[in-house]
Amino acid sequence: MPDASRFSSLLLDWFRQAKRPLPWRDGYDPYQVWLSEVMLQQTQMDRAVEYFNRFLARFPDVHSLARASEEEVLRLWEGLGYYGRARNLLKAARAIVDVHGGAVPSSAAELSALPGVGAYTTGAVLSIAYGQDMAAVDANVERVLARVFDIALSPKAPEGRRRFAGLALSLIPQGQARDFNQALMELGALVCTPRDPACPRCPLASICLALAKDTVDLRPALPPGKPVVPIGMGTAVILHEGLIYVQKRLPGGVWGGLWEFPGGQIEPGEEPEQAALREVREETGFVVRSLGKLAVIKHSYTRYRVTMHAYLTGFPEGAAPCEPVLTAASSFRWLPLAKLEGLAFPTAMRKLAEAIARDPRLA
Ligand code: SF4
Repeated sequence: MPDASRFSSLLLDWFRQAKRPLPWRDGYDPYQVWLSEVMLQQTQMDRAVEYFNRFLARFPDVHSLARASEEEVLRLWEGLGYYGRARNLLKAARAIVDVHGGAVPSSAAELSALPGVGAYTTGAVLSIAYGQDMAAVDANVERVLARVFDIALSPKAPEGRRRFAGLALSLIPQGQARDFNQALMELGALVCTPRDPACPRCPLASICLALAKDTVDLRPALPPGKPVVPIGMGTAVILHEGLIYVQKRLPGGVWGGLWEFPGGQIEPGEEPEQAALREVREETGFVVRSLGKLAVIKHSYTRYRVTMHAYLTGFPEGAAPCEPVLTAASSFRWLPLAKLEGLAFPTAMRKLAEAIARDPRLA
């Protein structure tokens, strides 16, 4: 079993010379640390830094974020995915201003009571922003620990989760959690990567049990993957007198509060075009006809592989749209093509908006 003090001294020596100059590392402002940790979940570092800088330019402190509309926050978040994070970020910012006087809480109980703040974010913010000796175990940390200590438990199983959390906490040298936690994450991101880890240049190679036992490829042990689910969708872009119909999804769910073109899943035995026209009827009450195919958009999220068949549609000759009867949306708009740019769309709908802009029929 590798010795804890040897582990931490090798790791911290490496971090002092290898750490990346990330914007929130300049002063470790709690608001910025919290924002970065929320953005980094499920997101590559380069992308998170780009969004972080843009977000911070618009919302330089928690007060400015708390005053923002959900619409504006979602628009700035567009493309990062997992939009629940953005909605929770806004709710938490408002709670920080209303309940905590604008200061990100420095106690685990208060911090973890904020919307969207789980065990990982609590540990990361308290250690990195406030220097408290708390563990912060993400996938990078799990991988490094699983390999150095050759742990055969899956970190996704309850027993494994407890083991990794306890081990990560026990390894923190007193008073150094800020650097130690960041160093572990950084090593997992830059050296001990999921595939082809760079063992020859790893600072922990001399104490790594998986390297010694040739089990690196088996760690961390993962539960069997869930099957990929293909989904076919029919979507309608409704055009009337140069304006395009968009609707705002109901709150909640993965894409709650974002804008979309009406559509939904293709039912068994149904053609994509029929599905698009049926969905328009069900979601708005409009009876429209197809004016032809617009685009086929492929998009993946979690384990779903979506193929979206999109059609240009319009009202029959002489008919005009009445007020829609909304069943899947909270509001709607008729907008010229140029105004779609300002709306927050899920990624697949943004791709469709871009396809619309390229279509000669709408030029
Ligand atoms: S020696 Fe290799 S497997 Fe072990 S921690 Fe370093 S990079 Fe990971």
